[in-house]
Amino acid sequence: MKALVLYGVRDLRLEEAPIPRVSDGEVLIRVGSCGICGTDLHFYRGEWRVKLPLIPGHEFSGTVEETGPGVSWLREDVKVVAEPNITCGHCYHCRSKDRNFYCANVRAVGVDVDGAFAEYVKVPASNVYEVPSWMSYEEAALIEPIACCLRGLYNVRLEAGDTVAVVGAGPIGLLMIQLTKLWGASKVYAVDLVEKRLALARELGADMVVNASRENPVEAIFSDSDGLGVDVAIEAVGSSKAIETAIKVARRGGRVLVFGVAPENDVLQVRPFELYEKELAIYSSYRSPYTFQRAVRVAASRRLALRPIISHVLPLGKGPDAFRMLDERREEAVKVVLKP
Ligand SMILES: [Zn+2]
Ligand SMILES: [Zn+2]
Repeated sequence: MKALVLYGVRDLRLEEAPIPRVSDGEVLIRVGSCGICGTDLHFYRGEWRVKLPLIPGHEFSGTVEETGPGVSWLREDVKVVAEPNITCGHCYHCRSKDRNFYCANVRAVGVDVDGAFAEYVKVPASNVYEVPSWMSYEEAALIEPIACCLRGLYNVRLEAGDTVAVVGAGPIGLLMIQLTKLWGASKVYAVDLVEKRLALARELGADMVVNASRENPVEAIFSDSDGLGVDVAIEAVGSSKAIETAIKVARRGGRVLVFGVAPENDVLQVRPFELYEKELAIYSSYRSPYTFQRAVRVAASRRLALRPIISHVLPLGKGPDAFRMLDERREEAVKVVLKP
């Protein structure tokens, strides 16, 4: 099969690779689409060290090609997505009451084991979820990021009526804007540096957009909220700078969600006095435990606009070019999806 193999920093090659062989309890998926995530870019830039060579890709959809022994409940040819995180089932976290993906031995498809920038990928059957046949592969590939967003919004205890600032209007920010509105947010601010993304943010439901390259987002949000700030500030970039902005735009007694994945060695500068004075609650979010089923439902409800988030659908062979485009932070790129 054809696959994109990452060998080192900015060294991604299209190669022939063996089709994965499924064993007990596993499923072989013929990949329909796989989105490029900020996490994949971290691997590509060497900002998050993973074992190489690796076929990345964890945001994927496809059809069941083959089921391994013991998998009786999945039919071949159904359209599916898969939770990429494979937990061990025997560590402290897996066995504690709130069984969670804090699993000490977690292995994720496209991170620790080969992923879906390929024609085929294998996963445990228990990680597989059927999606409606009418849903496009491109849109279904956004279910993994939706599942992660649901985890974050649950963690930050979003409530109906909350005002929200989303710092960063990339694919995650654009999902967060829609999800918070769906969840009952009364006003959503979007902050970004790129005009095209802010136009999308407005189209997808942001009530007010702030271009941080032209105006100070803290001043803009405070002046619009009678000096109060927002109930919930969501960082959706993966940078310490964006977290600092989120902390500043939150109201006294507000909640901050640190959501974006920052480079491994990024360091945050915070004034502890600001945390004290505002009595801020800061939440983080790790992957997508127990949110996949709901993410499938949310996507299937058609209440999110997913297609507008996808700026490029490219063949797998264009993968190295696509990574280069995202690495250069080219403004036209929002979500880039590859199709084998
Ligand atoms: Zn991702
Ligand atoms: Zn475990």
